[in-house]
Amino acid sequence: MKAADREGLSPSQIRNFRKHLADWYRLHARILPWRGAHDPYRVWVSEIMLQQTRVAAVIDHYERFMRLFPTLVSLALAPEADVLAAWSGLGYYRRARMLHKAAQFVTQELSAKLPTDSVGLRTLPGIGVYTSAAVASICFGERIAVVDGNVERVLLRITGRPEVASAAAKNFIHHLASDLVPAKRLNEKGNAAGDHNQAMMELGATICLPRGPLCLHCPVYGLCRTRGEHLTPPRPRQRSRPAAYLLATRKRRVVTEVLLERRADDASLMPGMLELPPLPLDAVEGREPILRLRHSITNTNYYVGIYAQTGSTSGALRRAVPAAKADLVWHPITRIQELPVTGLTRKVLARLRLDSVIGPETPEQRRA
Ligand code: SF4
Repeated sequence: MKAADREGLSPSQIRNFRKHLADWYRLHARILPWRGAHDPYRVWVSEIMLQQTRVAAVIDHYERFMRLFPTLVSLALAPEADVLAAWSGLGYYRRARMLHKAAQFVTQELSAKLPTDSVGLRTLPGIGVYTSAAVASICFGERIAVVDGNVERVLLRITGRPEVASAAAKNFIHHLASDLVPAKRLNEKGNAAGDHNQAMMELGATICLPRGPLCLHCPVYGLCRTRGEHLTPPRPRQRSRPAAYLLATRKRRVVTEVLLERRADDASLMPGMLELPPLPLDAVEGREPILRLRHSITNTNYYVGIYAQTGSTSGALRRAVPAAKADLVWHPITRIQELPVTGLTRKVLARLRLDSVIGPETPEQRRA
């Protein structure tokens, strides 16, 4: 007996579920730049970008990334700094590094052809169970379930199981998700497994929302055991942290430059990326920042103050930067787009429309 029969949905419920979901998806699938793509490279990049990142944030980055690296080989040949620069703003930069490494491996060892099944895909750097299943089913029609947080939520609610992160619950979800993936019928055109997996994720992302599911619009409402009456797990607690950064700029002839610090290669977050030099909080006590903003990384809210090196504060703030001199480099602001700059620094420079805070060059700036 299958897990789905025993604890979840009967065979006829499974058939109904598939049909209602497929009909709904045909009508309501969002138009996204990677939808309908059969090039596994494009699907792969989109799936990596979508991990832990909202669709709206991914769209712009995806299109730009594809313009810069239209093929797997072009990505493999690019310097890592260019790949990180194109990734800037998406966060979780390890994903970009692994994507780049995998593209190099595929180009050098596999004649630039991605493996065509989930087992082969999983051997590549940075491709785990989720991504391998997504690429294999969407591009190659493999009958394998894709289980992300959205799919998990839908299935727990459909079956009325509590949202627990136990191994037994994960196992149950995996079996039920697998049973729901349709097999390709003889002579059938299209890609039943790939479409089903995309529809499941779409349902969780647009209808069965984490808070406030839109049950009255749900195609599988008739099969759902909770219909909005599920227990909602508490939000993870957000932490708050203050942070301060130095904005130092100078003019070199007609070019404006900004001072950036390179993060250490062994930093646990964003190694090797460039950012405005962090300042110790006691160095900015009593000073007014030129900009305050909030920046969230995972479950921490950073309350950030940006302190400009101008006029009388010029030397004191610069000397307060703890970084080694070798890690601090002036970069023309016109080149920022091409550099692997952190999302926060990019946000600050854009928010300030840098030109408005650059004063005339001081003697000290000229010496720096
Ligand atoms: S009926 Fe509501 S809770 Fe159930 S799957 Fe649909 S949206 Fe989710």
